[in-house]
Amino acid sequence: MGYNFAAGPSVLPAEVLKKAQEELLDYAHSGMSVMELTHRGPEFSDILSRAKASLRDLMQIPENYKILFLQGGASTQFTMVPLNLAQGKKAYYVESGSFGKKAFTEAQKLAKVIDFEPISLGSTEQSGFDHLVSFASSQIDPEAAYVHVTLNNTIEGTAIYDLPETNGVPLVGDMSSDILAVNYDVTRFGLIYAGAQKNIGPAGVTLVIVREDLLPQVEIFSSMMDYRILAENDSLYNTPPTFGIYMAGLVFDWVKSLGGVPALEENNRKKARLLYDEIDQSSFYQSPVKFEEERSICNVTFRTNSPEMDKKFIAEADQLGFKNIKGHRSVGGMRASIYNAFPYEGVNELVKFMKEFEEKNDL
Ligand code: PMP
Repeated sequence: MGYNFAAGPSVLPAEVLKKAQEELLDYAHSGMSVMELTHRGPEFSDILSRAKASLRDLMQIPENYKILFLQGGASTQFTMVPLNLAQGKKAYYVESGSFGKKAFTEAQKLAKVIDFEPISLGSTEQSGFDHLVSFASSQIDPEAAYVHVTLNNTIEGTAIYDLPETNGVPLVGDMSSDILAVNYDVTRFGLIYAGAQKNIGPAGVTLVIVREDLLPQVEIFSSMMDYRILAENDSLYNTPPTFGIYMAGLVFDWVKSLGGVPALEENNRKKARLLYDEIDQSSFYQSPVKFEEERSICNVTFRTNSPEMDKKFIAEADQLGFKNIKGHRSVGGMRASIYNAFPYEGVNELVKFMKEFEEKNDL
């Protein structure tokens, strides 16, 4: 018995894996596995439309937003978003974490070949992205294409819970690590994107939710990168990641069965509270995040007072079945990723281990 604290790909609900196992060889009496179904046939068509309808319901996505199941990871969206939305315009970036910085860097690369102006609203890199960038809506040109934010900084363990004011400019949100784990108001966004491999399903699916009026008016040089073409073809312009979409649909049903996103957010808050309480009451463990209200409820980062002690912690934890608790290689320390499917008992057990480890090593 072990607990998987991986940041993604990460733990999936056991019920979902079991259901997929049951249906693996014969999906809905088709005599075929989902992996063997043509993406143009009635079975897959049903899988796709049900997955979309469930997600629309779960996130209360209005009808004037398209839901796309794409490939290429969230990282491809760093290029597709400006390519589709920002031509001839300014686009703002908030660099509060490594992925926000990457999004801006990719936008700058694209700006060398496409006419648009990426502008950074600030970066907290100098202090190790230990807090979020703050900005005033008056800094934003109302004619700009969008303001890009990363909702949850997976590596650093910070998150945005109060969405910023943007002077009427659409918000674009990278929701990769807290989609369906935090109950955001979709109508506050022009576009949301997320890699599936944390809260949605296996790696290989990228979700894009985009408001119809933001679909590109200009021709995009690649059909595969053109949101309008992808939307008009209902994610079937080319062969979609069929098995991943099927798994995502099962996860959506599972989220619904537990009471939806608000119920899961509440549970995630409880899990995170257990860990942060332990970190706060101890002088042995510290949180690298500067402000309490910016602490992520999905990726809890912490460390001891030395990299050697962190290494010892990670090794002993691993031996006991607390897997993948090592922090990202760029920041060190520990990171407990406790997304929707991560069980409360696992967090409880980790806290017990943290207490024991502290007792033995805090000399
Ligand atoms: N944004 C965030 C917030 C992430 O956590 C990740 C992956 N961990 C990415 C973007 C990149 O996603 P992908 O690996 O799917 O390209």
